[in-house]
Amino acid sequence: MLHDYHVHLESGPYTAQWIRQYYDTAMERGLSELGFSEHAYRFSQASSLLETSWADAAFHYDVHEYVHAVEQARQQGMAVKTGIEMDYIPSREAGIRAFLESVHWDYIIGSVHWIGDWGFDLPRFAHEWKERDVVDVYYSYYEILQMAIRSQLFDIIGHFDLIKVFGYRPPRNVIMTAVYESTIRLMKDYDMVLEINTAGLYKPAGQIYPAPEILQMAGKYRLPVIITSDAHCPEHVGRDFPLAQRMAREADITTLVRFEKRKRQYVPLLA
Ligand SMILES: [Zn+2]
Ligand SMILES: [Zn+2]
Repeated sequence: MLHDYHVHLESGPYTAQWIRQYYDTAMERGLSELGFSEHAYRFSQASSLLETSWADAAFHYDVHEYVHAVEQARQQGMAVKTGIEMDYIPSREAGIRAFLESVHWDYIIGSVHWIGDWGFDLPRFAHEWKERDVVDVYYSYYEILQMAIRSQLFDIIGHFDLIKVFGYRPPRNVIMTAVYESTIRLMKDYDMVLEINTAGLYKPAGQIYPAPEILQMAGKYRLPVIITSDAHCPEHVGRDFPLAQRMAREADITTLVRFEKRKRQYVPLLA
């Protein structure tokens, strides 16, 4: 009963044939359903919602072409869902809301990839880490993440501790536990879904998002959870799900969430 809801089609065209390649891998790996979550900034309708002209200059896809391709795949019998990974930018809430309301999504992942105009997880901006105070960066990230939770724009928070992506971590004497816990508690207050995202294993951080310490908190507060790969190509769909399942069980998590038209259904997390 596993499903993967964080998948990017971006290395190919928005066609049912391209979707089929992802879907075949999902079926081979025993998944029951596959959801796509293109980056909103790729679409001309949303590219101006960042605080930089970076996406505006690079991407001009039509969101309706994407939605149509997923719809066609569904008509061909594939169990696929229409999702989106939306950048949360504090000053752009009204524009984000208008964009999100323009499409009938099955679910919306809200992610923080930007601190001001710094795309901290993008390799092209990675050099900036050396010029910044790591503790300040972490505090800024969680401040923005908490704003994203309070905005009530999203169903799911993407890669909770993405800020560790390049392996920069606060020194040992700076304990982040209180920040993690207050953010997890806020997710509970706002009834948000946490994802266990395996892509972190393949980044310099070398660790699933979120860290076990944070997942334990999610278990304690009974947060609803999904397991995702953040695949950017067909072969990465469902990657390392057995490891993510094990981590979830160790954190006392027993149910997963499915979505349809932003309505939830809870399914047991089996072995
Ligand atoms: Zn992301
Ligand atoms: Zn992603």
